[in-house]
Amino acid sequence: METTRSFIDYALARRATLAALFGGRATVTDVCDAHPYLLRAAKYHGEATDEQCPVCRKEPLTRVTYIYGDALGQYSGRIKATRELAELEYEVSEFTVYAVEVCQNCGWNHLRESYVLGHGGHGGQGGQGARGERAHARAAAGGRRVTHSRERALSE
Ligand SMILES: [Zn+2]
Repeated sequence: METTRSFIDYALARRATLAALFGGRATVTDVCDAHPYLLRAAKYHGEATDEQCPVCRKEPLTRVTYIYGDALGQYSGRIKATRELAELEYEVSEFTVYAVEVCQNCGWNHLRESYVLGHGGHGGQGGQGARGERAHARAAAGGRRVTHSRERALSE
């Protein structure tokens, strides 16, 4: 999508987590800790990938995509299918996408990437939106997991 902005690839953090696991500095219990809400989201709203789980290697990873942003109003924090994002970005000025990978077998989960989408129009949101986006990005990048708003994501 040509309007993709602020793309962040979390591959380095992911590799570091896996290195810690395989190097014995973290346990499977530490890293395969998918919250029940996330596992349920993966089961019912996730998208299958053809990439094997890096930990158990028994099942392909499932991708769960969350969207956040003040411009989304009540839809902030919900899960969207990747194909729905293109349509949404014509309707919404700005929102941030967080893609999380989950293994439904062992519970491995990691933030994979985040990026900003939207048509970029400024509909009187002022600077609030940008500040909100940064707060979400910090929340997502600070922890390995996307723990915030999981319940809201699944509330419908
Ligand atoms: Zn696994």
